[in-house]
Amino acid sequence: MKKKKKLHTKFIFITGGVLSSLGKGLAAASIGALLEARGLRVTFQKLDPYINVDPGTMNPFQHGEVYVTEDGAETDLDLGHYERFTSAVMSSINNYTSGKIYYSVITKERKGVYLGGTVQIIPHVTDEIKAVILQLASREVDVAIVEIGGTVGDIESLPFLEAIRQLGYDLGKENALYIHLTYVPYIKTAGELKTKPTQHSVKELRAIGIQPDILLCRTDRFLPPEIKRKIALFCNVEEDAVITAKDVDCIYEIPLIFHQEGLDEKIVEKLNIWTREPDLHSWQNLVRIFKNPKDEVTIGIVGKYVNLKDSYKSLNEALIHGGLANNLRVNLKFVSSDELTPENVEDSLGEVDGILIPGGFGIRGIEGKILAIEFARKRKIPFFGICLGMQLAVVEFARNVLGWKEANSTEFDPQTPYPVIYLMKEWFDYRTGKIERREEGCDLGGTMRLGAYPCKLSKNSKVYEAYGQEEVFERHRHRYEFNNAFREELTKAGLKIVGTSPDGELVEIIELENHPWFVGVQFHPEFKSKPLKPHPLFVKFIEASYKYKLERTK
Ligand code: GLN
Repeated sequence: MKKKKKLHTKFIFITGGVLSSLGKGLAAASIGALLEARGLRVTFQKLDPYINVDPGTMNPFQHGEVYVTEDGAETDLDLGHYERFTSAVMSSINNYTSGKIYYSVITKERKGVYLGGTVQIIPHVTDEIKAVILQLASREVDVAIVEIGGTVGDIESLPFLEAIRQLGYDLGKENALYIHLTYVPYIKTAGELKTKPTQHSVKELRAIGIQPDILLCRTDRFLPPEIKRKIALFCNVEEDAVITAKDVDCIYEIPLIFHQEGLDEKIVEKLNIWTREPDLHSWQNLVRIFKNPKDEVTIGIVGKYVNLKDSYKSLNEALIHGGLANNLRVNLKFVSSDELTPENVEDSLGEVDGILIPGGFGIRGIEGKILAIEFARKRKIPFFGICLGMQLAVVEFARNVLGWKEANSTEFDPQTPYPVIYLMKEWFDYRTGKIERREEGCDLGGTMRLGAYPCKLSKNSKVYEAYGQEEVFERHRHRYEFNNAFREELTKAGLKIVGTSPDGELVEIIELENHPWFVGVQFHPEFKSKPLKPHPLFVKFIEASYKYKLERTK
């Protein structure tokens, strides 16, 4: 018999069937939250079947937000769920695409690593996949949760599924668990829950050699025992391993529902792990506030991708976290920057309690965003500008306070006489300790400032009040920077620079004098906000917005 590999880490493989968008990422994250609540240490990995090497080059309209990790990897938005629901820290090894796998196999082939052999999907591609999964194993991780993107039956995901099938065999029964997320629709005209799509999806999975241990059934109501029995019988899973994954209003309720359905108990039983009962108090508390807040605030988000909620996933969540910390519900009013004009700005933003301009790329909608910033500045409405939002706040100030009408970022007007935001030719990279240089006419790919960088705060500022410390690390994803050539004139006119790189060279945070709360940050604080650890800037922005609301409606 083949000797089984002895690893400390146990693996959970999550697949999805029937259709996409059933919430595999949230299910994986919730399982992580439950296992952590039982005292286990978890990590995650997302395997995406598309050919792009990473999602960095993909349009958020198609793929949703690009999530940036501490080490600067541009990853799938599910990694955001993983970090928000647990204390696991994600990095470039936690997200692989088919493109990244093939790239590595082909590079090895060119280097002659395969010694003249024919390079094939099995075993070369599948071995590469197994190796990247096994990287997660360590003494510090009890359970690694691996989510396979796409839907079972897709051509693209077959090598991933074959690799996890083989891993089940290599690792042995108590070290690998297969969880399959499927759909159980309620058909109104028949007045019945239908199990057939689930049966077909499991059949498909079994045809490629994977027998699921646990089924998560996405549905709009709790599955009655007879339905669970039927699914169990036809899909060859234990009856108490058929778990209802009920629709929820609040995603932070998912771990609670899974627990009520006995999911975490079943997982530790099957993986033969001894743990305490989970402590879910903090999650219960969160859901209680979510359902019964003391009041609400409305935040206007002026952006380009407002029609697709996934484009600003982390941002939306961070605002909700800021609300929960203040015992408030946060209503998000998405305003398309394309359509904002001096004539309709009052109608669009006159009633909101706070205005936020998120990150973005490209010229579309820029003037609308600048208009919204001017509105927030003059009306003294709390304002939060993130990345592009901060850059445009500098442009707005230069144009309308200093009267430099043609001020701009060189991203939008390379010839502007007032390039207050510009492309830096060289900068000091604190991580490598070297001066980095941007070559003339270089590719756009791989030229961004990415990942966590230190930022030093001025004590006399709103942001210092919020963070309560002098140095913070925040994540970046941008090319353009504040231009120090205009620093003196801008600050003299009332634009405060309250956060910089430790050497003082890169401007990271601006505030305005004589405004209740006007903050622009060059980084993306939303990536570090968690429901149980809300980001201080979002907490303070919501607090200021609520204060503004109370004064306005007095
Ligand atoms: N387009 C801007 C830049 O590249 C801002 C990027 C962002 O908002 N993430 O600097």
